[in-house]
Amino acid sequence: MAQLLEGKPIAAKIKEEIKQEVAGLEIKPVLASIIVGDNPGALAYVKSQTKTAEGLGINYQLHQLDVLTAESSLIEFIEKLNRDKAVNGIIIQMPLPEQIDYKKISEFILPEKDVEGMHPANIGKIVFGKAGILPCTPAGVMELLESIKINLRGKEVVVVGHSEIVGKPLALLLLEKFATVTVCHIGTSEAKKLEEHVGRAEILIVAVGKANLIKGDWIKEGAIVIDVGINRIEGKIVGDVEFQTAEKKASYITPVPGGVGPLTVTMLMRNLVAATKLQL
Ligand code: NAD
Repeated sequence: MAQLLEGKPIAAKIKEEIKQEVAGLEIKPVLASIIVGDNPGALAYVKSQTKTAEGLGINYQLHQLDVLTAESSLIEFIEKLNRDKAVNGIIIQMPLPEQIDYKKISEFILPEKDVEGMHPANIGKIVFGKAGILPCTPAGVMELLESIKINLRGKEVVVVGHSEIVGKPLALLLLEKFATVTVCHIGTSEAKKLEEHVGRAEILIVAVGKANLIKGDWIKEGAIVIDVGINRIEGKIVGDVEFQTAEKKASYITPVPGGVGPLTVTMLMRNLVAATKLQL
């Protein structure tokens, strides 16, 4: 039976370090958060970020814009925050209304204020192993692995999902640690090869957004399973891995919720402190 790999205790430890770092800064860091409209999912993220920021001595400034805000107006707003010396970090809440292209607008955030680590300049630095600001969820996954002191060198790691925000940057971070990384995606499933790849994984990380995509009996005996997926089913939140069967085979498994999630928001605050230090 697998041991639960919970995010909360690890996040609590890192938050304590962040709190001390913040206390040592000459200013109180300011995180400007932009929400366009009132999407319930985005509002839930804002609530959790506000609470985390408060506990760390971070000033969380919420800017709620009208749901009909034009892309050009949002860009102007971002540029104003870029120029504002009192703002240390900028985050744009997802999902955005359809008139706004996230990829386009995220390029307008100054790389040194990009606390989500999604500006092409910050993503590019990962390739060279020189990143100062990392995308939050991949950084959180790396913290989970570090917490169990696993040596990644030469390990068979299978990442399912190849999005810009999770799978792709995570694969690069794992390569930096000399893991043998396989990245699976929709094409792998179409070729009916997902089960075969999953079965080889000593470490399996899944970020797709499809409940029960990964069957427990596919998993290699003793594997470490990190489930990034968030799916709402009949009012309950579940991951992408069939938990009850997977926990019988894995050595460690993250719960959903309570696994990767608590670390994602913590990494955001850690990025803010790194960004603030860069600016000072
Ligand atoms: P995305 O939609 O951008 O990417 C999905 C990926 O899954 C793609 O690579 C796609 O090819 C792949 N995929 C789709 N169907 C597949 C199938 N049948 N077989 C294999 N691969 C398949 O998603 P994303 O933004 O990376 O998010 C993925 C999941 O992670 C979502 O559930 C999201 O809510 C969750 N998420 C959680 C956190 C967290 O903090 N816990 C953070 C970010 C995302």
